[in-house]
Amino acid sequence: MSFRENTVKIVATLGPASSSESMLKKLIKAGVDIFRLNFSHGTHEEKKELIKKIRSINHYVGILADIQGPKIRVGQFENDDSHILNLGQTVKIYEKPILGNSEKFSIPLEGFLNTMRAGDVFYVNDGIIKIKVIKKEQDHLVGEVIAGGIISSNKGVNIPKGELTQKVPTEKDVEDLRFIAELDPEYVAISFVGDSDDVLRVKKILENQGNKDIKLVSKIERPIALENFEQILDVSNAIMIARGDLGVEISPDLVPLKQKELIYKCNREGKPVIVATQMLESMVNAPIPTRAEANDVFNAVYDGTDAVMLSAETAVGKYCLEAVNFMNKIARTATENVPLRVPDLYDSTRLTHTQTLGHAIHALAKEMEDLNFRGKILVITRHGYGARMISKYRPPLPIIAMTPHLRTARELNLIWGVQPFYIENIDFFNLAAEEIIEQSVKYGVEKGVLDENEHVIILLVSRMFEKTGNLVGLYYVGEVLNQFDHQF
Ligand code: PGA
Ligand code: MN
Repeated sequence: MSFRENTVKIVATLGPASSSESMLKKLIKAGVDIFRLNFSHGTHEEKKELIKKIRSINHYVGILADIQGPKIRVGQFENDDSHILNLGQTVKIYEKPILGNSEKFSIPLEGFLNTMRAGDVFYVNDGIIKIKVIKKEQDHLVGEVIAGGIISSNKGVNIPKGELTQKVPTEKDVEDLRFIAELDPEYVAISFVGDSDDVLRVKKILENQGNKDIKLVSKIERPIALENFEQILDVSNAIMIARGDLGVEISPDLVPLKQKELIYKCNREGKPVIVATQMLESMVNAPIPTRAEANDVFNAVYDGTDAVMLSAETAVGKYCLEAVNFMNKIARTATENVPLRVPDLYDSTRLTHTQTLGHAIHALAKEMEDLNFRGKILVITRHGYGARMISKYRPPLPIIAMTPHLRTARELNLIWGVQPFYIENIDFFNLAAEEIIEQSVKYGVEKGVLDENEHVIILLVSRMFEKTGNLVGLYYVGEVLNQFDHQF
């Protein structure tokens, strides 16, 4: 195994286009680090089988289970057909379920009729259709179509007004979470998070099911989540910038700005962030992306994201493998050209020894680069914190993380620049620091990620070892190996 040059992680959503064993293998080979299982579609049984299949193919790739949240949808349409709403026409909207057509349809959401006022707007089908409420009648609203398009059964609805959103998690989410606790993926993504209580409720449900390990990814897709972002970040393990819904709920011109702000805040805390939705959307139907899409992926990397995500492109796209290949290629070009980070700008106010060492390692790595020292960074980490504190400063050398926990190795697949290794046969808890250094360097050489003619910066974090303090060292690989050979 050689060192992966691309430091930006790729999350790919699974669906009919990507769930066969042969396609899963190709996608992993092409650079997918995490698979997303979307609980808006499919059965529990399907998910279980899929995870089994993924684990049997590759034991490192991470799994992200994404729960649907309070997504509002339109009711059924006549003949389950597509109907067209034209610009300027009026349309009746009912709360009670009726069969829709191009003159009327329903949004079966309790309180809808009561809450909406003349002048309010809402969107259907990912923001393509925009309707403004003109007046309220006895059992329906009359709306004017401000932006027209195709409407059909169960299409998603966005109501920016906000008051109508149900609690997170929904009943369906709770049911899914109980199942997810058993499936034990590395991450669960929580849709339509509004505040930190939403996140804590999900955590509690998983804990009540006996699972304290699953890491929580809060999806930022509502204006209220932007307002409450600090408290949400505080209780979350990771963030997804869910631009699909966010770009409907706030004006699209604000999405790039919010993306930059959120990425920076996540980076500063050393919590992974995923940029999601429509990154290579046109590749659902075409083998090459648009120029604008290439720009989007490149810029997300420039903004400092840990990971980029594919949705429909890999779930139902005709060119699912090509999409991953292109994403990798664009991300790599961007990575190679991002200016080196100024570490002072990324210190969190939460001072920890490990963060300080992460900062210092950036300085050390930069110095080595300036002096043309070849080298890598090696961090021995139990739960991944040490690796995150190094990664967040984006040092100019590759980061190898070795961990005695398989779960940590899989979780680290979401962290920028970290190549994780799960190591079963080094007894990190009983060996002296010196022996750990020797054995892990030897392991790295055996695996082909370290070579004898380079330097290695090593971080051992104190919480792992009862008697040693935090330890940072700069070694020459060949010399570490010789010493090892002498002793045994
Ligand atoms: P979704 O979330 O694909 O589950 O809607 C992502 C988004 O809204 O961007
Ligand atoms: Mn969404």
